[in-house]
Amino acid sequence: MIDLHQLFARQPKSSKHYDVIVAGGGPAGIGAALASAMSGASTLILEGRSQFGGTATAGMWMNFNWIFRSNQEDSRGGIHQILVDRIRAFGPIASCPGRRDPVILNDGGNLDIHPEYLKKVLFDLFEEYEIDYSLYAPIVGVLKEGDLVTGVRVGSKEGETAYHASVVIDATGDGDAAYFAGCAMENSNPAAGWRAPITLLFALCNVDVDRFYAWYHKKPIVLQDREFPNLREAMAWADSQGYTVPIGFSVDRGTLPGVLNFNFSTTRDMFFDGTRSYDLTVVEKLGVLQATELVRLGRDFKIPGLENAGLMRTGGFAAVRETRRLIGEYIFTEKDLMEGTDFPDAIASKYGGRDPMGDDYPNTNIHQGALYPYRSLIPQKIDGLLVAGRCGSASFQGHYGGKSMGNMLAIGQAAGCAAALCAKDGVQPRELDYKLVQRRLMEMDVIL
Ligand SMILES: Cc1cc2nc3c(=O)[nH]c(=O)nc-3n(C[C@H](O)[C@H](O)[C@H](O)COP(=O)(O)OP(=O)(O)OC[C@H]3O[C@@H](n4cnc5c(N)ncnc54)[C@H](O)[C@@H]3O)c2cc1C
Repeated sequence: MIDLHQLFARQPKSSKHYDVIVAGGGPAGIGAALASAMSGASTLILEGRSQFGGTATAGMWMNFNWIFRSNQEDSRGGIHQILVDRIRAFGPIASCPGRRDPVILNDGGNLDIHPEYLKKVLFDLFEEYEIDYSLYAPIVGVLKEGDLVTGVRVGSKEGETAYHASVVIDATGDGDAAYFAGCAMENSNPAAGWRAPITLLFALCNVDVDRFYAWYHKKPIVLQDREFPNLREAMAWADSQGYTVPIGFSVDRGTLPGVLNFNFSTTRDMFFDGTRSYDLTVVEKLGVLQATELVRLGRDFKIPGLENAGLMRTGGFAAVRETRRLIGEYIFTEKDLMEGTDFPDAIASKYGGRDPMGDDYPNTNIHQGALYPYRSLIPQKIDGLLVAGRCGSASFQGHYGGKSMGNMLAIGQAAGCAAALCAKDGVQPRELDYKLVQRRLMEMDVIL
């Protein structure tokens, strides 16, 4: 029986002073909120959109890459293992091993998670660890006393509401809280003038998945009795025939029979800015066009497995790969990523590969287990704030490799531990002894 009082018990309280507020409920935010609460801090997580999970849920049946440390499914311990155990408890309807590429490590150590079960697990965990939470609660500003962030402002149907905390963790992906706080930031890769594509993911149903995979993996690829060396050239030809499809995509099988999730390049080489509302509006329009066009192409050209496919739905939002990044106490570099630097203040690690960038920059493996330093969570001047996930302090190249969800979860987890320790000891993040964070991570059985 539903207990209404219980349903509302974890509602955010503007009258309360929280130890930690987490802005953003993607992989980094989930890790931050859970680690903070598990470390004894009173914690509030605020998510601007309709679902916790960020790209992991809006993306639909996407691989949660590097939720393990390797293709052999070596545990990363900590919150990674908690999520894996909770998801797997629902059986094969909730997860399955995801795509794996033995050559390029972008796809590895992964679990393909049914987004609705991930949402269920997150609500359950927030309740269990007594985390206050709200969806539909975008951060539109921060509270500040001089250079100290003391809370956040949420803009919603009720108007603006202020929430107070000892430490705010910015896990918004776009670094909104840090931006509003006046932190130094960089957006995208200004030097190269290149921006990663933004993608509206979508799922097709009524797909003959095995026949589609056989077609998709075959080289040369055949379309309308013509042979093409790769998918890209096949799609370029389809485009010339009047079908508005992008030049590249990858597919995930998911847990439902006959359903395939498509990760299109959507805006490749078009350079949209994911911090601009109208750029995102255009991506939505383009993504819906491309998804419907692929269905039309599959039916008209009888692509094996897609002859009777239908568009099930597009993602919860246009998924953004990179935008603003903090310029923090340490900027994690390409060298750190590719060669692995032995940071004394290491609090997380990155596994996997780097997506291609334009035509000249192919997929590359990064240093497996590249360590990520505590200082990359800390703004240069602003106190009361930690920045985790894709908006953390890294160069464009440093961020763009190993940005998989498992790695962002790891960085968020460390930020949550650090924020809880700061609140408990009454110190600022820049004053905190990083060894305490490392010790707390060990207590949580985290394997870097
Ligand atoms: C198209 C695409 C495909 C990808 N494919 C994969 C893949 O297959 N496997 C993989 O592991 N990784 C993949 N990635 C990478 C991965 O999804 C991201 O790097 C990762 O999700 C970043 O985590 P994050 O928590 O830092 O940010 P996000 O996942 O972006 O989460 C940020 C969260 O903050 C919320 N938010 C934003 N602004 C505010 C605000 N002002 N107030 C409150 N909340 C806010 C957002 O709604 C969102 O929920 C992909 C990324 C994209 C874009």
